Amino acid sequence: MKWRIWLLSLGITLVCVLIFTFAATQVYYRSSINDSKNYLRVYMNGFSGEYPLNAEGAKEFSEKLNGARVTFMDGQGNVLADSLADGGMGNHSDRSEVIDAILHGEGFAVRGSSTVGKNMAYYCKSFDGGFLVRIALFTDSDWKIFANTLPTLLEFSAIIIALCAIIAFISTYFIITPVKKLAEDAAANSKVVSKYSELRPVAEILNERNRDIKRQLDEINKEKELAEKARASKDEFISNVTHEMNTPLTSIHGYAELLDAGGMSSEQQRTAYKTILNQSERLTNLIACIINYSEIDSDGLQSYEVDFSALAKEMLCALKPEADKRNISIAERIDEGVIIMSRHERLSEIFGNLVRNAIKYNKHGGCITVTLNSREFTVEDTGIGIAPENLDKVFSRFFTVDKSHNGKNGGFGLGLAVAKKICIKSGWEISVESVLGKGSKFKVKF
Ligand code: ADP
Repeated sequence: MKWRIWLLSLGITLVCVLIFTFAATQVYYRSSINDSKNYLRVYMNGFSGEYPLNAEGAKEFSEKLNGARVTFMDGQGNVLADSLADGGMGNHSDRSEVIDAILHGEGFAVRGSSTVGKNMAYYCKSFDGGFLVRIALFTDSDWKIFANTLPTLLEFSAIIIALCAIIAFISTYFIITPVKKLAEDAAANSKVVSKYSELRPVAEILNERNRDIKRQLDEINKEKELAEKARASKDEFISNVTHEMNTPLTSIHGYAELLDAGGMSSEQQRTAYKTILNQSERLTNLIACIINYSEIDSDGLQSYEVDFSALAKEMLCALKPEADKRNISIAERIDEGVIIMSRHERLSEIFGNLVRNAIKYNKHGGCITVTLNSREFTVEDTGIGIAPENLDKVFSRFFTVDKSHNGKNGGFGLGLAVAKKICIKSGWEISVESVLGKGSKFKVKF
């Protein structure tokens, strides 16, 4: 780029020098022709009747004029004498200066002389005696003047080229440096600024590009982070599932081995069979829960209007025996005709999980209040409550506060995780407030 700028400035300078020289030559040429005209007029004033109109007279007058060519002609342009030619020059009435002199008294012309073979300025004047006197001076043609100036031109060109090289080098430095700085700043991803207004649009484009790249990088990083989180969550899920399956499997395997070995009393055998049945049932439940939890994501089923009021009442009826077993009373504050855009199975899943937990984690003889209106649905109990440090965790997969309790009640810590997953999918908000030892209140905001 530097070289291009340098060559371009050099080329422009040379063309300018040539044009200028040519124009100056023309001006100089015209001025010298004008001067010749004035000199020739002054010379002509020196002509008087003392010169005879013959070759001697012409030579004498020419000598007086420092060798200027003198031609005498009669009134019709027939040459009588010429200081540079010895007769035989014929008639000059076709020469423009002679024609002008015959018609208007004087004439001036510049051209190459056929007699002497050089460029000459002619001035011709008509005198009262009916004759014409013409004086001519050698003059340079414009091309000759141009050619004469060429050596000087070349000298100047050499100086100009040197100057041009220095100026081009300096200007290139001033042009290239800010552009280079822009490129360096852009490459370093820092904000590109320029004090030159011409470079500001470029700086703006570079900044925009940098912002785009940063945005894309952020998106890629975010996606990477999400993928990483998804992978970790999948690993954790698999490890939890394995752990949950391990307990019943070990128990089934152990009792099966004991039965196989024989020697057990019939009472012991009954316990073994019962345990194997219970544990295999638990295993089946676990698998069903896991399948249910996983299917929520892929379930692309359409929502429809569900009469949640009717569904809630129906479910409370079904759960009442379970509550009665522990002497737990249920207060219903269910508005009539609450219609929710969802699916029957999704709403019964959330409702069932929350109410079953309220029964499961309640105190004997406690009470439950179920509230439902078009804005929200709450299940409040007077049970064991949740410690503040566990409030955030209860919605996580496989989280159970009391690990020992886990086995007894068949809870895998998936109920609230399922409820949360359905809520997120439906755009609802699920939350919990609780005081340890006093009770909990689960709320779903539609
Ligand atoms: P689980 O099958 O163990 O009940 P959940 O996901 O339904 O699984 O609940 C997770 C944990 O949250 C439970 O193990 C329990 O410790 C706690 N929990 C849920 N509901 C209540 C409640 N109403 N009162 C007190 N603790 C609760």
